[in-house]
Amino acid sequence: MIRTGEEYKQGIRDGREVWIDGERVKDVTTHPALKPIIDVKARMYDMAHEERYSSDLTYVESNERHSIFYKPPTVQKDWHDKIKALDHFMKDISGVVTRVGDETIGEMWSLTDGRDVLAEIDPRFAPNIDRHIRAVVEKDVFHVSANTDPKGDRSLPPQQQDPDMMVHVTRETDAGIIIRGAKYETAAPYADQAYLKPTVGAWSTEKLSDYAVGCIVKMGAPGVKHICRSGFAGRSNPNDYPLANRFDEVEALVVFDDVLIPWEDVFFYRHTRAAQFVRSTLHRYSAFPYVLRLLYVADMMIGAAMWNAKQTGLDKLQSVREKLADLVCYREGINAHLTASIAMAEKSSGGLLMPQQSMLYAGRVFACSQLPAMMHIARELCGGQICITPNANAFDAKGSGEWLNKFYSLNDQWQADDRRKLLAFARDLLNSDYAGHRLTFVQFAQAPHFNHLAAVYNNFDFSGPLDFVKKSAGLSDRIDGMAP
Ligand SMILES: Cc1cc2nc3c(=O)[nH]c(=O)nc-3n(C[C@H](O)[C@H](O)[C@H](O)COP(=O)(O)OP(=O)(O)OC[C@H]3O[C@@H](n4cnc5c(N)ncnc54)[C@H](O)[C@@H]3O)c2cc1C
Repeated sequence: MIRTGEEYKQGIRDGREVWIDGERVKDVTTHPALKPIIDVKARMYDMAHEERYSSDLTYVESNERHSIFYKPPTVQKDWHDKIKALDHFMKDISGVVTRVGDETIGEMWSLTDGRDVLAEIDPRFAPNIDRHIRAVVEKDVFHVSANTDPKGDRSLPPQQQDPDMMVHVTRETDAGIIIRGAKYETAAPYADQAYLKPTVGAWSTEKLSDYAVGCIVKMGAPGVKHICRSGFAGRSNPNDYPLANRFDEVEALVVFDDVLIPWEDVFFYRHTRAAQFVRSTLHRYSAFPYVLRLLYVADMMIGAAMWNAKQTGLDKLQSVREKLADLVCYREGINAHLTASIAMAEKSSGGLLMPQQSMLYAGRVFACSQLPAMMHIARELCGGQICITPNANAFDAKGSGEWLNKFYSLNDQWQADDRRKLLAFARDLLNSDYAGHRLTFVQFAQAPHFNHLAAVYNNFDFSGPLDFVKKSAGLSDRIDGMAP
């Protein structure tokens, strides 16, 4: 089954407890900070029903239509289909959003791969894993990711500080487990459910721990409280901040105040080995759509910088072309990693097709770590006018408007209105509060940089370089046991 945008909106009008700027939100779908991004997610659902998109956004299995985004990948075509579907979506909304479901669903596929290991550690929960993986496809649910606790003082084990600093189980009942704590989650206030699992911490040297818990949490369940950061949408004129007003993906500190998790929603519990296993494979699929977003961010930077160079005639200068080429190299570097990861895709233990891991994780480091430098190049190419241009009202007002229209009209082709619009777009992409937030999002939302590097280290096959150097340097066979 595929849902409509309206069905999705009805689903999140469930009386959930959402707070923003100290105010309890009555209806998330109409709140000015949340409405734009909820409309974007609803659009994703509606597109799947439209004739021009439906054959690319859905597939039919056993006479049921499902979202192509949620189809577990088993062959390369599945990945190409997802890339095409995402392309339709980004072009339709004319912007970039990340946490709209297709990027988090991969965590469930990792769970498919982990099913047998988890069943061996604790067989009670294996049927839950199977059922939930099916349910996401069959019910078309919007599913987000809950990993990061406030954590507190990391020099202390959680038991020696406020124990709620990390989510943990406080007791068991016949109906399920009771969890307590909090997680930072993008999109939680307007999602159906989250896959919650621990940040592996100081407790993970123990065999059993109350902190080792993985489960599905319904975002409207009693005791779940969403405390959002301030939104960017609705704060300013959309003519001045066109991206912030349409695409802000609101994060929340999601508090779990003794939340009952029914036994059928539990994936693992108490076994630290299960928690460690789940963490080590978490992003093997979801890193792909995460990095793919940065291809579109790169396109926005290239487009903004190139239009600006064309408006001002600077595209004729060789040194300006070189900077534009640097942006292109960044874009094509991301493209190359993603393309190669699918061309070299690998079968997973659960029978799925995962992007070649070393290529994918190296691509994630490349795309995320180089973004600040690329934003700087794009900002520099757009020039200082992106931060000193008066707002849209000033262009319209009598008195200031005539002067602004005079000085912002470049020639017959480039009149002040287009110049102002491009500068406002570039400001919101590169310079605004929202732009800074998005940069931080990229650096952290799918784990921080050190974690990205750890994934590269753990997935690269070091045996090639080691053998190469062993032979080239004439090293003895005594060192053979030292290879990883
Ligand atoms: C915009 C945004 C959206 C987010 N969305 C989500 C979400 O949807 N779901 C979710 O679960 N989380 C989300 N997060 C949280 C994100 O995953 C965390 O910010 C991230 O895991 C880092 O945790 P922290 O902020 O507690 O930083 P800390 O753990 O305090 O780390 C701060 C810095 O300390 C250093 N450091 C810390 N520990 C180590 C270590 N072991 N080795 C080396 N260096 C270390 C690093 O430089 C690190 O960047 C989001 C964060 C942001 C900013």
